[in-house]
Amino acid sequence: QYFNQMEELKGRIRVFCRLRPLSEPERRQGGAAPIDCADPYTLCVGGDKGQREFQFDRVFTEDTSQQRIFDEVESLVQSSMDGYNVCICAYGQTGSGKTHTLLGDEQAPGVAPRAFRRLFELAQARAAQTSCAISTYMLELYNDRLVDLLAPAGARTDEKLEVKKDRRGTVVVSGAALLPCQDAAHLQLLFERAVGARRTGATRMNAASSRSHLVIGVTVEATSRVNGAVTRGKLSLLDLAGSERAAKSGADADQLREANAINKSLSALADVISSLAAEQSFVPYRNSKLTMLMQDSLGGNAKTLMFVNISPAQYNLDETLTSLQYASRVK
Ligand code: ADP
Ligand code: MG
Repeated sequence: QYFNQMEELKGRIRVFCRLRPLSEPERRQGGAAPIDCADPYTLCVGGDKGQREFQFDRVFTEDTSQQRIFDEVESLVQSSMDGYNVCICAYGQTGSGKTHTLLGDEQAPGVAPRAFRRLFELAQARAAQTSCAISTYMLELYNDRLVDLLAPAGARTDEKLEVKKDRRGTVVVSGAALLPCQDAAHLQLLFERAVGARRTGATRMNAASSRSHLVIGVTVEATSRVNGAVTRGKLSLLDLAGSERAAKSGADADQLREANAINKSLSALADVISSLAAEQSFVPYRNSKLTMLMQDSLGGNAKTLMFVNISPAQYNLDETLTSLQYASRVK
């Protein structure tokens, strides 16, 4: 039944909300905001502006494990093996749990490492009927500039990176590395290298990595051993830049430029998703590099899932409401 549900959801955008646990410093600084999960689909937020309700395809509370989250997205991972373009993204203010959800860490691996393992398990399980080629690219989008996180050190070609479409309509970033992966461990290694490159890059630019978008693309090409038919799918994992508004005072020119670039790309993403949801004939993909990059994985035959990550802290309540409103817009 769940599988049928997922089939129907093709082309539709789903939004999952994940509330993270309160941290110890937050407990001491004002505690938790009045946020309650009324049922698995409804989040109730109190406060001086009155009680508000937000509906999602799922709401996950602070006790939801990484494994549980993966169980919910596993069928999407499978879809990318079946020829769909799948996009799983995480939206929210810095510190809300985006990276925890998508990447996680060694103790609590997130969607990415689990998905890598699952893809190769599926390839293995189907090896008698199909031969499967899995490749990856990993990019960072900072101030509307693309950075190839898999480029060998000293051979950066960022200047030449360009978003294009091939003759099948698949988005390709010309100039960026697309590396074939032998197995899940190999893909995991490339992933760790990319995450490391993002961190050092951010340090060099004196910027936080939370101010850039991280794009992990895994392409799957399955060739039938019976009739040679080829199916192509792609799994994109998108750890979006922090959605928080820039401080109105004290921000310097670089910080404002950065905030503008993030703001513009996140609004463009919402515009694309909401026009897809409204089934409008014109979808404004070309309004930002982010949406151009994700064009083949949003709408059409693609399956899109957005996590809206929120903080439980009282002092984040304004940003939390802003995130929930953004999420309501994309449904
Ligand atoms: P973001 O990527 O949105 O800036 P992070 O994923 O880095 O936020 O999360 C901020 C902090 O909260 C990290 O220390 C992270 O480990 C922790 N955290 C986030 N979500 C959870 C969760 N669901 N359970 C436990 N810890 C979490
Ligand atoms: Mg992060």
